[in-house]
Amino acid sequence: MLTIKTIAEMQAWAGASQRQGRRIALVPTMGYLHEGHLSLIRLARERADQLVVSLFVNPTQFAPNEDFDRYPRDEARDAALCEAENVDVLFQPPVDEMYAPGHAVYVDEDGVARTLEGAHRPGHFRGVLTVVAKLFLAVHPDVAVFGRKDAQQLWLLQKMVRDLNFPVAIAAGPTVREPDGLALSSRNAYLEGALREQALCLSRALREARRRFQEGERNAYLLRGAMLDIISAAPDARMDYIEIVDAETFAPVAVVNRPALALLAVRVGGTRLIDNMELSEGAAS
Ligand code: AMP
Repeated sequence: MLTIKTIAEMQAWAGASQRQGRRIALVPTMGYLHEGHLSLIRLARERADQLVVSLFVNPTQFAPNEDFDRYPRDEARDAALCEAENVDVLFQPPVDEMYAPGHAVYVDEDGVARTLEGAHRPGHFRGVLTVVAKLFLAVHPDVAVFGRKDAQQLWLLQKMVRDLNFPVAIAAGPTVREPDGLALSSRNAYLEGALREQALCLSRALREARRRFQEGERNAYLLRGAMLDIISAAPDARMDYIEIVDAETFAPVAVVNRPALALLAVRVGGTRLIDNMELSEGAAS
């Protein structure tokens, strides 16, 4: 496995691969890899000849009051995991390589990026879209793989690729969960003691919404209420939002009569967690 730390070297490698007719897949990550990331890496492996994983904790997607400084990091372990998955290139640029002094041009979206995660984390999606655009321009992937765990991010990246005509196919992988239902997240490392158990309120709420949906409930207000009851029962959990949106437009719905997503963000102790689940006829768990 090659470790590349500069954009120029990454672009040179990508150019050489393309001249040899090889398809490149990219899996962007912020590191502290878990089985969710590894599932995307395996998906990407099937889609291309050359596999690039980027490892970059992107400062521009964190607000000043957020956890950029204490975000969990373990670069040696991440590199070993990538090596074991036969990753060809680990792209691991330092912050001042991705954002040279005076960097001032950003990619943003004006509608969905202002809602839900964007409403609670102002500037978050501007940071995400900008860094992914920069990664695309560094790695030249034919396909880039993202997780459905970050459903709004996935929607916005698909929109960015369409609106800016990036020649990149976006592929999505399902959310990988612990056996008890907790969606894997690097931030789960923050959950200590009783908070780990309370964090189950997110997946329990989503499963309850799905159960009621499968039993015929289509009223989004009532489905949200059922989810809120479960969140409220966890003593250290505070809801940021609970919403049901149209899966295609990401607009909130009152009646679930087309494929939809139930989404929620909850603070459990000091840890902010997000999760989502599809509500549609025949959706798997
Ligand atoms: P992150 O390192 O948190 O920025 O995540 C990198 C990629 O992994 C993103 O596309 C996430 O959506 C995806 N991801 C994170 N957690 C999971 C999970 N539990 N299952 C599947 N994909 C995930």
